Amino acid sequence: MAAAKRPATRRKTTKPVPAKCPDCDGNGEITQAVRVGARTGRLTDDHQTGLCLTCWGTGEAPTD
Ligand SMILES: [Zn+2]
Repeated sequence: MAAAKRPATRRKTTKPVPAKCPDCDGNGEITQAVRVGARTGRLTDDHQTGLCLTCWGTGEAPTD
């Protein structure tokens, strides 16, 4: 009695969802309030947007 050949089962390839960068929340950019005054550090209504240095703008949490 020959063993029946089983067809190779293909595993579904599921793409791993990249974790969101904790610093920019997946935006790739961080917004900071502009402070004025060296001593007081008073916050202004202005905000500046900068590239997130944690993920370098990818929005994905760096994996190491
Ligand atoms: Zn980031």
